[in-house]
Amino acid sequence: MRFKTLPNINNYINLGKKIFPICRSLTGNGNRKTLRILKSKIPNLHIMEIPSGKRVFDWIIPPEWNIKDAYIKDESGNKIIDFKKNNLHVINYSTPVSKKIRFKDLKKNLHTLKKQPDHIPYITSYYKRLWGFCLSHKDLLKLEKKYKPNSLFEVNISSSFKKKGSLSIGEAVIKGKSKKEILISTYICHPSTCNDNLSGILLTTMLFEHFKKFSSYYTLRFVFLPEIIGSISYINKRFKELKNNVIAGYNLTCVGDDRNYSFIPSKKSDSLTNNSAIQVFKENKIKFKKYSFRDFRSDEGNYNSYGVDLDVASFCRTKYAEFKEYHTSADDFKVLTKKGLQKSYIIMVKIINKISSTILPECKVYCEPQLGRRGLHPLLGTKEKKTQVKKLINFLQYSNGKNDLKQITKLINIEFKECEQIYKILKKNRLV
Ligand code: ZN
Repeated sequence: MRFKTLPNINNYINLGKKIFPICRSLTGNGNRKTLRILKSKIPNLHIMEIPSGKRVFDWIIPPEWNIKDAYIKDESGNKIIDFKKNNLHVINYSTPVSKKIRFKDLKKNLHTLKKQPDHIPYITSYYKRLWGFCLSHKDLLKLEKKYKPNSLFEVNISSSFKKKGSLSIGEAVIKGKSKKEILISTYICHPSTCNDNLSGILLTTMLFEHFKKFSSYYTLRFVFLPEIIGSISYINKRFKELKNNVIAGYNLTCVGDDRNYSFIPSKKSDSLTNNSAIQVFKENKIKFKKYSFRDFRSDEGNYNSYGVDLDVASFCRTKYAEFKEYHTSADDFKVLTKKGLQKSYIIMVKIINKISSTILPECKVYCEPQLGRRGLHPLLGTKEKKTQVKKLINFLQYSNGKNDLKQITKLINIEFKECEQIYKILKKNRLV
């Protein structure tokens, strides 16, 4: 695959290494710190705060969670688990705790993956208040050998919940010639895991920097938000703008491994979002796994939901929940590779460029235009001429600024060439 404008991928891997250790979550200072670092690359990144307790559609923004430190010490003062070594060691959104506890009781709050004994699981408990630590199963077995059921441990989780806190979202817009927008959304809530979804954060940043330089016909909107409740909050906040302007969109998740390409289409199968992506995959001879919309588990679900109806698909390399390192400490910089990220970047640039070169006619008048005044309606027409008029009128019926020429061709059942000619006539007469 040839590409003229490849960015220096090392810069982005280094950016990733800076962001990787930060403990992110649904809310909190880790997310703000991450967004502030991104602002160094995206100067117009606007960081908005949605207050805790605010109702967003059917959800309520939870109190803001922050964590300073967490550990478990044995009686001799040895730290057997240390949050500072890996933030996955603590269940994300753990309640604070500071107490002495016997090993047999502590074990109820220790979580491991028996089937992946070398890795720490990534576990969250956003809405059910509890505390817990995560560790590799191998390490748990070692502890079981070393300590007795009655051995005493000191557990400490220095976390806090702020009722008057907020949920942070970053957004940046690059204005195009057209007000119509392509939405690029990614989630920032995962702490130290790479493919899911540090890769999405990096790719979104790369795309911003690319289109800042090379611009696109359509306006581009980039958003960084915590998964699910973040997209719900963002849709709630920007409902009108999104509804009025978004013509296509992609949720970028798990885009850094160099194994597969995966695509979760938006709900409306014959759409600009889906057609453009699939065409680019085909043109570049890329084999990809096409999922059904029903396989969604990320923000694409909210964007496509009833009444919101934004045409947003998800682009992934190996889809979330489908790779073995998923939601474990094994999802590191061995999974997120330079090659993987670079190829995702190339494909996404091509998809956005493909949309930019797509004509989306939009009828400029309400109701039927007066064609006679424009010399487009024969007074004493032959049958043929009347059929031609019918085609013009039908073309306008589907010129909603969302259908491209190929879709209109299908919708009004004519040849593509004829559709192009009709477009030219209507454009000349300023009807689209
Ligand atoms: Zn995830």
